[in-house]
This record gives sequence, C-alpha cells and structure tokens, in this order.
Amino acid sequence: MTDVWDYAPAPESRDVVDLRSEYGLFIDGKFVEPAAGGMFKTVNPATEEVLAAVGEADATDVDRAIAAARRAQTEVWGPMPGAERAKYLYRLARVLQERARELAVLETLDNGKPIKESRDVDVPMAAAHFFSYAGWADKLGHAGYGTDPRPLGVAGQIIPWNFPLLMAAWKLAPALATGNTAVLKPAETTPLTALVLGEILQQIDLPPGVVNIVTGAGETGRALVDHPGVDKIAFTGSTSVGKQIQRALAGRPTRLTLELGGKAANIIFDDAAVDQAVEGIVNGIFFNQGHVCCAGSRLLVQESVLEPVLDKLKRRLGTLRVGDPLDKNTDLGAINSSEQLARITELVDSGVEEGADRWQPECALPDRGYWFAPTVFTGVSQSHRIAREEIFGPVLSVLTFRTPDEAVTKANNTPYGLSAGVWTEKGSRILWMSQRLRAGVIWANTFNRFDPTSPFGGYKESGFGREGGRHGLAPYLA
Ligand code: NAD
Repeated sequence: MTDVWDYAPAPESRDVVDLRSEYGLFIDGKFVEPAAGGMFKTVNPATEEVLAAVGEADATDVDRAIAAARRAQTEVWGPMPGAERAKYLYRLARVLQERARELAVLETLDNGKPIKESRDVDVPMAAAHFFSYAGWADKLGHAGYGTDPRPLGVAGQIIPWNFPLLMAAWKLAPALATGNTAVLKPAETTPLTALVLGEILQQIDLPPGVVNIVTGAGETGRALVDHPGVDKIAFTGSTSVGKQIQRALAGRPTRLTLELGGKAANIIFDDAAVDQAVEGIVNGIFFNQGHVCCAGSRLLVQESVLEPVLDKLKRRLGTLRVGDPLDKNTDLGAINSSEQLARITELVDSGVEEGADRWQPECALPDRGYWFAPTVFTGVSQSHRIAREEIFGPVLSVLTFRTPDEAVTKANNTPYGLSAGVWTEKGSRILWMSQRLRAGVIWANTFNRFDPTSPFGGYKESGFGREGGRHGLAPYLA
C-alpha cells in the first residue's frame, strides 16, 4: 500500500502515425525533390529525436510552385463555381476529422505541445475553419464585398510553428473559398502536419496546383515574398520579420496582411470570481507552453486582491503536469526548439537581473529535450524587459493597478495590440474597458477562446488585416 496517488502514465500511441523518413515539396499536386536537392531535419523537441528529413525549397522551387498556382488559378480554381469549390473544402474538413488522431499525434511529435491540446484544439479547429469557409464559397456575393467579388490570384502564405496545422487552415480556408490558389510555407521546425495535409489534398483530389507547399526556413519565405508573381502575402510570425516583409513589399502592388506578436494584458478586477479568473490566467499564459501570440503574458491585478489571486495561482501551478507531450495527462509540453528555449532563458534572466522576483513551482523536468518550468514574476515594473517584450514561453509577469483608468493606461502601454482579457462581475465595466483597450480581440471572463466565425487580428505592431469569419474573406478579394 502506498499513500502516494500519482497519475499513472497515459501515453497516446505514436504508431497511428506513418512517418516517412523523407518528405519532398508539394508542388502541382505531387511530392517532388527540391531543385538543388537540399534537405533539413525536423526533430521532436521533447526527445531531440530526428523525425524526418524535409526538402528545402529555394527560389527555383518557389518559382515552380507559383507557376503551378497561377495555372491552377486561371484555368481551374478561379473559373470554378463557388458551390464546386465548397465541395472540396467540405471534403477536406471531413478528412481532417477522419484522420484527426493521426494528425494530433504528428503535431505533438513535431511541435512538443501536449496531445490533449493538439487533439482537442488544433485539429478540430483546423477542420472547423474549412467547414466554416466552405459555407462562404458560394455566398461571396452576399458577404458585403459587392455582388461579384473577385479573387486576387495567387497567395503566398507564411506561417509560424506554434499552431502549425491550425495556422495552415487559417490561411488556406479563406484563400481557397474566395477562388485564390496558394503557395504555403510552413515553419522550419514544424513542417510535418502541412506535408501530411499535402497527402490529404491528393486524397480529396484537389486539382493540382491549387495548394502548393514549400518547406524551408527564412530564405524560402524571402523567395516567396520577393517573387513578382504573388498577388498577396499573408504572414503570421514575429514582428521583426513582419517589418522586413512590409519593407520588401513597399512600392509593389502585392497585397499584404500581417499577424504578428503580442504582449496581452489579462486584467483582474477585485470583484472578479477569483477561482475562474485563476483558471483563465493559467489558460491565458500556460496553454501551448505560452507559445501563443495572444497569450495573457502581462497579468494586471487590482491591488486589493493581489494576495488571494497570487496564492491561488501558485497553488494551481503546483498541480500542472510538465512532461511527455504524448501523455494524455500532460498540461505543459516541450519548448519547440533550442533557439526558442535560449530566447526564453535570456529574457527570464533579464527579469531577475532587473530586479523582479521569480517564482517556479517544484517540478522535475525531463533530462532530454527542451523544457522550461512554468514561471511567475512579481515585483515587475513597466520598464522591465519581461513586461515589454514578447517572451513566447510559459512566463507570466504580474503587475498591479488601483483604478480602471490605471488598468487601461498600463494595458495599452505596449507597442503591441493583439488581445486583452477583462475579469469582472460588472457588464458595464467590461464595455467601458473594451472601448478603451487598444487590442484586436478582448475576452471578458474568459481567455484564449477561438471560433472560425470570429475575426482575429491586431493593432499597432501586432499587425493588420483580420483572419476568421466574414472579415477574413476581405484580404483575399479584389
Ligand atoms: P518568425 O517570424 O521567425 O517566423 C515565422 C515564419 O516566417 C516562419 O515560417 C519562418 O521561416 C518565416 N520567415 C523567417 N524569416 C523570413 C523572412 N525574412 N522572409 C519571409 N519569411 C521568413 O516567427 P516564429 O518564431 O516562427 O513565430 C513566433 C512569432 O509568431 C511570435 O512573435 C508570435 O507572436 C507570432 N504569431 C502571431 C500570430 C498572430 O495571429 N498574430 C499567430 C501565431 C504566432
């Protein structure tokens, strides 16, 4: 007999994934070798095991992909009636559902996120996006953009590593529904679910060239941005790369949308339901290891409730399970790459050096792989780097305020403007705050809620353009 009641391991089987040792580029409906033969490896960040070698696309490959996309757009996809395009999108959504378990395991292997998140959030939301935009494909004349809105042509789409399949769906679904074709560039550390998506596009008989997938790092993205044959660039990633892209496109007719970084304030008033708020704080910053552009990374707590909120938060963080991402009980998985781990570590060190107080719950981290314990900083001032810069990791900076005005001033004191959260019992205060907070998305008494019918996007250095919902059609229509 023992009086220790630990969770028994509950690992999801990785056998549901049929990993190939090598993946080519997906161009014109086929997997092809990169022109120059370059390959790079993608690893499992939880174990550092090499998962597969993946083609590295150069400017020649990007050129081939854009030519295929152009041909498919002018000859097949553009002229196709919306109701026919919709059938492909519905089929794609259904196959994503059918292959959900395989995709969830693959996402967790390549990204390091807990299986319960890839299974319950990433993959179902990706399918939901295609379902939702399939519904728009034959109703574009009723979307508020004129009676006969036209597609732009060929879209170059560059996505980050934090929600690899979901970001691919956010990009592809509105582009395809509106009659555009696409060249998608996944992030270099997480290319695998996009490549299996390529296999699924073959499975549903999507006409060749409608979607092309070119894997590679920044150079591949740059080749896509610099190509004169793209009519639109849709980019999700860091603010610094977003700025480079905006500079590169200045003076060109190419349309651009940017979904960039964030430093969201999660604001707790003294009348908030504390237990719910604590769950919202945890979800806001520790979901997906904090690799979330809209993460509630700055906690603003009304001074009079700081102590009870912190006490409950610390107690709750002590119960988070950090470890094997494939275990169904895991709350916090691996950091996506050694580079990201180094970035988080550097910023956390700066927090300590600048005088904030670091707190971490007791938690044993695995020996191999990239890990960072959940971290809370108190005694943070607005000038500290941990209060200003996006950490993109499981690190929360706690600040306080006394009045609603002060909360608004502090929340808006950031170059970013992607999201914010407000926790209060008063509906009038929620509305008052929402009118003053400069953020694209404001959650009230919840956090990190997403829906394919709801627009998402930022202000200021968080970018411009909206993805999701009816608004998400506009960036793909002439
Ligand atoms: P990143 O900017 O380094 O990379 C994003 C993508 O751009 C990758 O595919 C990368 O290969 C490519 N890239 C890199 N350099 C390029 C260049 N010069 N030209 C063209 N493409 C280039 O960002 P990341 O580290 O992969 O992602 C994290 C960032 O993404 C965070 O800042 C996060 O906030 C942001 N993000 C924003 C949203 C949003 O919707 N606003 C969503 C998810 C992530």
